[in-house]
Amino acid sequence: MKKLISIVVPAYNEEQVLSLFYTRINQVIGSLTQYDWEIVFVNDGSKDRTQQLIQEIQESDSRIASVDLSRNFGKEIAMTAGLDHAQGDAIIVIDADLQDPPELMTEFLQAWENGFDIAYAKRTHRDGETWLKKFTATHFYRLMGKISQVQIPADTGDYRLMSRRTVNALLKLREQHRFMKGLFAWIGYPSKAIEYRRAPRAAGATKFNYWKLWNFALEGITSFTIFPLKVATYIGVLISLFAFFAGAWIVIKTLVWGNAVAGYPTLIVTILFLGGVQLLFIGILGEYLGRIYNETKGRPLYFVQEYSPADMTKHRPPRRSS
Ligand code: UDP
Ligand code: MG
Repeated sequence: MKKLISIVVPAYNEEQVLSLFYTRINQVIGSLTQYDWEIVFVNDGSKDRTQQLIQEIQESDSRIASVDLSRNFGKEIAMTAGLDHAQGDAIIVIDADLQDPPELMTEFLQAWENGFDIAYAKRTHRDGETWLKKFTATHFYRLMGKISQVQIPADTGDYRLMSRRTVNALLKLREQHRFMKGLFAWIGYPSKAIEYRRAPRAAGATKFNYWKLWNFALEGITSFTIFPLKVATYIGVLISLFAFFAGAWIVIKTLVWGNAVAGYPTLIVTILFLGGVQLLFIGILGEYLGRIYNETKGRPLYFVQEYSPADMTKHRPPRRSS
């Protein structure tokens, strides 16, 4: 039996690119006949014709599996749903918008055959993205590397190949707050970077605005480091030390020179400063507390409306270990 490779594609409102995507993917996997293929489309609660299109493709191609989620859960969870349902010996995660060139799969597979568990795409250029997005992205990954234990490779998206054992490892992490790039890095295993040039979207619009990106960054930081909480401790220590010496100084000054009742501005500035710092760190505490709250509910990650497996995987033994 040939090795089975699964391609997991999360799709949210992608009617404009889906058939184009399928055509491109088809060309690539058509040339890699030494493998069996399965394409798992995950419809992440799209409001357009994405699911109909997936079904149409599925009718003409027995390699297509579809997972239709009960609503929009976001890309991280959609990806997880795809990984849960993928049957392959190796699994490739790719965006539906053709920003990740399918041609890279050949190199992914080579790396995999050479013994790497993970092969990920590292962008050298990002065409069609604003300088602000590039700037914030670069600095975010630098910062994450400095303040957390996981080393997330810079300029790397979700586009990657993972061996069956890495996927099984990843699927053991069932946290609600899923910062996938961090989780990919956290599990470890030998990995190889493959460089490419990131293209602009083939059609349709990005689903990530700056507010979402900011929340994404918060998710990354709070899921992988308690550094911000530590900052509160040290700033608290510094301010207390300062207050101690300033207090001593004021006492001595009053004893030696008397007190002419001045210092209203100092008082106001001090109160506002301390109030601000306290609110800020209560806020940070809240970010962590809220996440603890969400995790303790232990809800399932997603619900599936309908799963229809690829025809050819029906007769394969189940690959997933639980
Ligand atoms: N996506 C998803 N659910 C969402 C948002 C996005 O499944 O809630 C999918 C989307 O269809 C695409 C991939 O995630 O296949 C990447 O999304 P997008 O291209 O909008 O992100 P960007 O490339 O701009 O970071
Ligand atoms: Mg995109």
